[in-house]
Amino acid sequence: MTEHSLIGASSIGRIMACPGSFELSQQITTPSRSSVWAAQGTVAHKLAEEALTEGYDPVRELGTVVTMDGHEITVDQEMVDAVQVYLDEIKRRSADNPGRFFEARVCLDSLWADDERPVVSAFGTADAVLLHYDAKHVDVIDLKYGSGVHVPADSPQLFYYAAGALTPWAETIDLTIVQPRGKGAAVRTHHTTALDVLIWVEEVLKPAVAAAMAPNAPLTTGKHCRFCPAQAQCPALHKMAQDLARKDFGPSPDRLYFLPEEELLRSVGGLLLGDMLYERKLCTPAQTEKICAPSEWDLVKDFVESRSSGFKLVQAADLSRPSAAQDFDECVA
Ligand code: SF4
Repeated sequence: MTEHSLIGASSIGRIMACPGSFELSQQITTPSRSSVWAAQGTVAHKLAEEALTEGYDPVRELGTVVTMDGHEITVDQEMVDAVQVYLDEIKRRSADNPGRFFEARVCLDSLWADDERPVVSAFGTADAVLLHYDAKHVDVIDLKYGSGVHVPADSPQLFYYAAGALTPWAETIDLTIVQPRGKGAAVRTHHTTALDVLIWVEEVLKPAVAAAMAPNAPLTTGKHCRFCPAQAQCPALHKMAQDLARKDFGPSPDRLYFLPEEELLRSVGGLLLGDMLYERKLCTPAQTEKICAPSEWDLVKDFVESRSSGFKLVQAADLSRPSAAQDFDECVA
């Protein structure tokens, strides 16, 4: 199983937005089951890594079914095509024969002074890091197989990888997202420098980690909650859900009961809906005959079809008649 840092690259964006999620996430003892989309992403990454390290064409795996985190994932044409976009981008950036590192573990602990280092290790796994020694340039490339969440190339996750991949000689850095199934361009690059990455470490990363380590760090809800492992335990998220429900449905479930009929009909809703508030039902022929004037009944009675069940209702006393008693016996037999 892949090891994850509690202040890792994939969680740093959430920790920056919600410092309290660091503390709350540590209380999760049973990891939630991976979604089918996460499992698809893992399979796509494995396919890409193996194609790169073993040098084969990903189409070779077309149709292979992989069991991943409890899901059966088929390597289909869409996955092969997406992985190929990623491979093409790496190939395009490899013309000068750079040092290539795939699924590269980067550790940021050395960026902190000994007495300031966070209580947990800060590390992550970059999909691809290319070191262009002569050009003093570094490429950080991340494959996103998902289509739902658009990830910008200057995301904290890529800055984090860049901080971990920084070498003393590096001057320029390209942060590249390859997201072939998402909206917009399949390949997006943010050009930056080693200096900018170091400034990001000092001005963004370190304060965010310090805020997360502080006692009673605040919980802040937002889009970042979507991938938070502490969702089920989070009081801030529960409160937000309740507030939204209250906004939509009113302060209590009592609203689900109608007011007295006259009051309801005088209300704006009653005036607008009128007869729609009532349920219509067809009367039985007997009820219709009862409420109609004879002339009205004459108009509808031709549309009444009567069918005999073959039985007659009789008073219990009539069961003394032999024919009625026989009918009764047959019915209850
Ligand atoms: S669910 Fe949202 S508010 Fe709660 S800890 Fe996670 S990120 Fe923070």
